[in-house]
Amino acid sequence: MEYFAGIDIGSTAVKVAVMDDDRQIIGSKVAKTGALVYKNAQTAFLSLLTEIGLQRKDIAYLTTTGYGRKLFEDADETISEITANAIGAKQVGKPFGTIRTIINIGGQDSKAISLDEDGNVSNFAMNDRCAAGTGRFLDMAARNLEIETTDLGEFHYNAQGTPAAVNATCAVFAESEIIGLLGKGHGREEIVKGIHFSIAKRTIRLVKRVGVKELLYFDGGPALNKGLVASLEDELGKRLVIPEFPQVTTAFGAAIIGQESYQYEQEEKEQLSPKPEKQSIELAEHYKSTLDPSFSKTVGSDCGTSSCSNC
Ligand code: ADP
Repeated sequence: MEYFAGIDIGSTAVKVAVMDDDRQIIGSKVAKTGALVYKNAQTAFLSLLTEIGLQRKDIAYLTTTGYGRKLFEDADETISEITANAIGAKQVGKPFGTIRTIINIGGQDSKAISLDEDGNVSNFAMNDRCAAGTGRFLDMAARNLEIETTDLGEFHYNAQGTPAAVNATCAVFAESEIIGLLGKGHGREEIVKGIHFSIAKRTIRLVKRVGVKELLYFDGGPALNKGLVASLEDELGKRLVIPEFPQVTTAFGAAIIGQESYQYEQEEKEQLSPKPEKQSIELAEHYKSTLDPSFSKTVGSDCGTSSCSNC
């Protein structure tokens, strides 16, 4: 059995996925990227290997992706996160049908990727200039509301009243807007729901730039937020495919690309060197010809002369 690893080094989190020959994920891990990007990615990778009972030498091919991908020195290959995300979504989305649009919200950017019928990237749009509409914005809002990012979904569903209007298009202004809403007595639940609708509207504008084609697939860490998922589905008027581990799709895609590169390299090697079985057959023939008495008899004393048919 051979194993392949993909490491997605994002702005906020490092995601590691290890899969086997059959593309079954046998382990995954999410850790903070932090300031010591390479060290934290390496620690996450090695600790996942320990957890699943593997060693570094068991990984036939390691592929990195994400904004910090080039910092990981011992990778066999680095790949863009758009390609890795597309390949991962195609594989994970298979049980649902053909994925045609990926919505990815990460820690500091958001993307919309359009795929053709074969799962190849045909277009993409990206917002990496403004924190509004990204995971960082949600983390900031949660901090201001004194709740955990992981509880945003629950707060959304507990909202009884009308969602608060959060209009600011910039994360900095949105922060003061949230503080202002709290000061006016709005409930945290209604503010959270308002924030989710505001992010959903921004995200859909991005998706419309590449075209809204079904099936739509939503991934990245914020896809774990059920309130945000509901807001996007409401605003789109369409259902989204949400994978079981939405944060790990891109790392998984990188591992798949790595497997393909590895298989290609193996095939190249095989073509360059003769097959061992063929070599042994040729050697055996050679020894047989020199040792076989009947062969010597045939060659006989005429060997080397024009009457020898074997020369
Ligand atoms: P990147 O690849 O840019 O580092 P990720 O796709 O890893 O980004 O997403 C990171 C973001 O995901 C965090 O900023 C956070 O807002 C969000 N997130 C992570 N885990 C959860 C969770 N359990 N519930 C809700 N949001 C989450």
